[in-house]
Amino acid sequence: MADYLIIGGGLAGMAMAETLQQAGASFHLFDDSSQRASHVAGGLYNPVVLKRMNLSWQGDRLMAHSIPFYETLQARLGVHIDLKQTVLRRFASIQEQNAWFEALDKPGLSDFLDPKIHPNRNPALEAPHGFGRVRHTGRIDTGALLAAYGETLREAGLLSTSAFEHEALEMRQDGVNYKGMEARGVIFCEGFGMLGNPYFNTLPLQGTKGELLTIRAPELQEASVIKSGVFIIPLGNDRYRVGATYAWNDYTQEPTARAREQLLTKLKPFLRCPFEVEGQVAGIRPTVPDRRPLVGQHPDHPQLYVLNGLGSRGVLIAPYAAACLWGLICEGRPLPPEMDAARYFRTHTAS
Ligand SMILES: Cc1cc2nc3c(=O)[nH]c(=O)nc-3n(C[C@H](O)[C@H](O)[C@H](O)COP(=O)(O)OP(=O)(O)OC[C@H]3O[C@@H](n4cnc5c(N)ncnc54)[C@H](O)[C@@H]3O)c2cc1C
Repeated sequence: MADYLIIGGGLAGMAMAETLQQAGASFHLFDDSSQRASHVAGGLYNPVVLKRMNLSWQGDRLMAHSIPFYETLQARLGVHIDLKQTVLRRFASIQEQNAWFEALDKPGLSDFLDPKIHPNRNPALEAPHGFGRVRHTGRIDTGALLAAYGETLREAGLLSTSAFEHEALEMRQDGVNYKGMEARGVIFCEGFGMLGNPYFNTLPLQGTKGELLTIRAPELQEASVIKSGVFIIPLGNDRYRVGATYAWNDYTQEPTARAREQLLTKLKPFLRCPFEVEGQVAGIRPTVPDRRPLVGQHPDHPQLYVLNGLGSRGVLIAPYAAACLWGLICEGRPLPPEMDAARYFRTHTAS
């Protein structure tokens, strides 16, 4: 018997599993590879919304919790997953430079925004107005993390690479039974796949498809992440990720020619060196109308929980949201109201 069944092995499921492991609780995780968001993600962590020059939701708190979480995990797994990389925000005009200086006075931002303008020193980039540098940023290599984490679970016999069939779940007085497996409860971390979950599919999960290109550009020679119309994310060996797109009405998992064109149109004006496109990936971000996570307990089946709605910031949100959910499960600690899925269950019941 496991204490909990975890459904989904993306960033949410991994963070939940690791949180249980650190707390000494047992689990068994199911993953069917039907969703790809966590595997294809750019993996950036950056608490500043660079378009609007605001601190992202709970940005400083998420950094304080989640970065040490990945550092600990990196040491335990023995795999280099936390790459500290500077993010440089390209200024398109003098006005954008001024907006950067104004943003320094916004609450919480001064620790993250470098007050200097950094002139462009890379001849392969078109950036006459220079860059602003964001501090304490980096990238989690989500592909390497999830592969290494999955391997440790497989070796320990804690992973089933099959679809969880919701109709086979039986509710018991003190827990659940799933095909003969007894557990205290089930924690659903299914990403956009949640729409196929009869217990939680009334929650308003929207999908936002995202695509990224991998390019090879030997003359670019850039170590920082560059943010202009798109992100350019250095991977090493002359490879860079370029992205991402946002599409709200396409729920297919495949890369599209349209997204490729969009990305290249945004890339070409500020890349002044030859490059070739080597690959393209796609995934569906689990987004929520109010752009906050969906975390909590089912109103009628208290043994069922949800951890979802990580949107476009899964790297920073997943470990923190998992810790909040464990606080609820283990100690009955109330969830931060903004992430509590009860905000939508209440609406649903009232309507
Ligand atoms: C192109 C792109 C770029 C991104 N870049 C960034 C970035 O730079 N930084 C950042 O923080 N975030 C980024 N994101 C967002 C981030 O990827 C998501 O927030 C995060 O991956 C969501 O994680 P998740 O575990 O909730 O969902 P998912 O990654 O979708 O994982 C859900 C898992 O559940 C499994 N599953 C579902 N149903 C079942 C079932 N019935 N049985 C078994 N398994 C099941 C799926 O197979 C999947 O493995 C990006 C997303 C995309 C698409």
